[in-house]
Amino acid sequence: MAQLSPLLKQATPVVVDHGEGVYLYDVDGKRHLDFTAGIGVTSTGHCHPDVVRAAQEQIGKLIHGQYTTVMHKPLLELTERLGGVLPSGLDSLFYANSGSEAVEAALRLSRQATGRPNVIVFQGGFHGRTVAAASMTTSGTRFSAGIGPLMAGVHVAPFPYAYHYGWDEETATKFALRELDYLFATVSAPNETAAFFVEPVLGEGGYVPANTAFLAGLRERADAHGILLVLDEVQTGFGRTGRFWGHDHFGVHPDVVLIAKGLASGFPLSGIAASESLMAKAWPGSQGGTYGGNAVSCAAAIATLEVIQRDGLVENAAERGRQLLDGARLIADKTAAIGDVRGLGLLVGSEFTTADGEPDTATAQKAQKAAADHGLLLLTCGAFMNVVRMVPPLVVDAAQVDDALRIWGEVV
Ligand code: PLP
Repeated sequence: MAQLSPLLKQATPVVVDHGEGVYLYDVDGKRHLDFTAGIGVTSTGHCHPDVVRAAQEQIGKLIHGQYTTVMHKPLLELTERLGGVLPSGLDSLFYANSGSEAVEAALRLSRQATGRPNVIVFQGGFHGRTVAAASMTTSGTRFSAGIGPLMAGVHVAPFPYAYHYGWDEETATKFALRELDYLFATVSAPNETAAFFVEPVLGEGGYVPANTAFLAGLRERADAHGILLVLDEVQTGFGRTGRFWGHDHFGVHPDVVLIAKGLASGFPLSGIAASESLMAKAWPGSQGGTYGGNAVSCAAAIATLEVIQRDGLVENAAERGRQLLDGARLIADKTAAIGDVRGLGLLVGSEFTTADGEPDTATAQKAQKAAADHGLLLLTCGAFMNVVRMVPPLVVDAAQVDDALRIWGEVV
């Protein structure tokens, strides 16, 4: 009899039968409040009726139409719709299936467009698990352990993770930019650097928002040296942070945006957006894949966008996010076990630390498990896996946030 590989190790024993909105129902009929959203994917909630209908209708018409041979209607319609929400000038889109593939597509584009070998990534960044994406990931050695040699040409600069450094935001930002300049002077000269890859909020790295001065510093250096600013919005896009894009909080204009996760409510779909002139610099034949831009995924993405805009889910994420952050902070005030609570919109992380400020992985994982026992599904993140993160679907309502906070308060 076949069995699941030990690689498929679950954080909880839950076997799901079906999902509806913010709830998952297991095979024994027990209801779970899902504050993981499939790692920030099911933006419109589980099985939103409009998304289900769009996917079902599309399945009956066309499941797969390969984009190097034929285009299909959902792909064209989605592209047109994304034009209405993407940052100005980023109107050329390329599609793939996963976040990692989007990262790799942007990596190829950056190197081909600039003719430069290096990329600079930021400490605590997560960009995926394919070998190139894992080479660019610094949010934990677990993502690249044993798979080396990793891709050459990746250099790492600090991210302004103020709590980790024990500094204020301004000091952490000045340090990060000074170290970036040091990197330019020592190992990756600007004219050898193709791109910066950065998340507007570190996701796997511990739910650490960037800030305006930091991203402005990157933009300034990118402009001065012809370096591309690639924003990995795989986790932060599509309203997750309470603005449509994570970078909308910081007033920075990217050269390339990476999208996936919340884009299609759970159907595999990702993409990269850039200007037409930049995209034209990618070498023909080097980009693409059999399944990219799947017709059913595109139909689900169109419905997802429609629901996000029609139902005000971005505004909901901002309001419910504030409620969740404030509530999580009040809970943290009552315990010495949580050193910091931070986030943006519906990305809220509680960092567990010992009395002397060291990462407390054991307590974070105990809290995650206890929450699951009480019907609240949560994830952990951070280099030490000592941050418990809450990332519910964008449709979450005030009563459901209160419910999650009640359970979290009891658990903590
Ligand atoms: N980039 C970011 C910011 C992510 O959070 C993730 C996944 O968590 C990825 C890239 C990789 O996406 P995928 O797991 O779909 O390959």
